[in-house]
Amino acid sequence: MTQLISYQQALDIILTVAQQHRLSSRQSIPLIDSNSRLLADDVRSTINVPGFNNSAMDGFAIQSQLVNEAIAKFAEIKLQVTGSIQAGDAENNTLEASHMAWEIMTGAPVPDHFDAVIQIENVSVSESNGKKFITIKELVQKGRNIRKLGTDYRVGEIVANKHSILQAQHIMALATVGISQIDVIEKLAVAIVSTGNELAKKSSKDLNSGKIFNSNQPFLSTYVDYLNCEPVFVGRCKDDEEEFNTLLDEALDKNVKIIFSTGAVSMGKFDFIPKVLKDRGAHIHFHKAKIRPGKPILFAELPNGTLYFGLPGNPIAAAAGMRFFASPFIRSLLGLAPEQALKAKLKSDITKKQGFRTFAKAYAHIDESAQLCVDMLMDQGSYQSCSFAQSNCWLILPEDLEIIRAGEIIEIVPMVSQQLFF
Ligand code: AMP
Ligand code: MG
Repeated sequence: MTQLISYQQALDIILTVAQQHRLSSRQSIPLIDSNSRLLADDVRSTINVPGFNNSAMDGFAIQSQLVNEAIAKFAEIKLQVTGSIQAGDAENNTLEASHMAWEIMTGAPVPDHFDAVIQIENVSVSESNGKKFITIKELVQKGRNIRKLGTDYRVGEIVANKHSILQAQHIMALATVGISQIDVIEKLAVAIVSTGNELAKKSSKDLNSGKIFNSNQPFLSTYVDYLNCEPVFVGRCKDDEEEFNTLLDEALDKNVKIIFSTGAVSMGKFDFIPKVLKDRGAHIHFHKAKIRPGKPILFAELPNGTLYFGLPGNPIAAAAGMRFFASPFIRSLLGLAPEQALKAKLKSDITKKQGFRTFAKAYAHIDESAQLCVDMLMDQGSYQSCSFAQSNCWLILPEDLEIIRAGEIIEIVPMVSQQLFF
């Protein structure tokens, strides 16, 4: 048997190839459509926010010094309310010193003449001869309830960082500074090809004997979306070289950057993909690595520069290929920093095959002492999606160990790189 390469060796090859294929075409899209997209540049504010000093409360704008001096002497002050300003009104700085207090609403510009706002709850309001007055009995600190110009964003300040995966909170911030159109990294066009005589026809609801439903294709079509890829070609073929070659031609016609296939990369009689690729003049960067599940994984490059991931057919093996090979490849291709694994405390003993980097379906949680803990799930078979659906992370078990004891600290990664708060 030929010497299998290690996961690290495979990763090194993947990252070297990615360096040679670096790409990050950008496209401008409406901000409202940018959820989950990858921001192309640092975005800086071109305005100050707030753009004017404004009131944080419904209440009365006053001059703090005048009020405080009076309260120090007389314990209270009664001011005539000589004006009113509401959110949306233009700034009004034409006031004269005789103006004592203005009624003001949250978000309304505070006239320069005033330097504090006292909440409506903290004054008593009275009327006489059709005039409105407020009585204040507490000291009012200068600046109270005034949101100062530029205290959210200053002109030139970063609003969102390059390569952020845009989420609602970024979209709020970008909208705050008036951005409605944004440059994101263009999605990579990819093809997804499923192989196997056993795959039921797309339309069939019932399974004939010996057939299975194709779960890899829906999984991959979804998963590539997390990797800033768009499946522009999806096809399936029997275990037949000619059919497969036709699909490859169709995928290449769509100018895809990466082709993902499932099945037909192992040692079986019908595992024709390595041969077909070689016949087409592809360079096989590697075929098979010392990992579990997914040992037969293949990574190649077609003569036109299209990259090729031949994922094994078993669904969890295909998923491991996406998570641990395709993900770092695409991150590097797009110029993103390498991902860091998290560390978690193992809840129970694990035994594994010596010499293989093993990726296990797992569930992480935070225990009572705020420690991140992880359980390896039952049903680790590479055909078993039942436990995959229950998992929220992958456990990464190092090659050299055969037994890993409960309590040891072990690496985990979330299902998708850089999602949520991980
Ligand atoms: P292969 O890698 O082609 O030898 O396939 C390995 C296993 O994965 C077999 O049990 C296949 O039936 C299964 N398999 C292959 N393709 C798919 C698919 N698209 N969806 C679900 N299972 C698959
Ligand atoms: Mg097969």
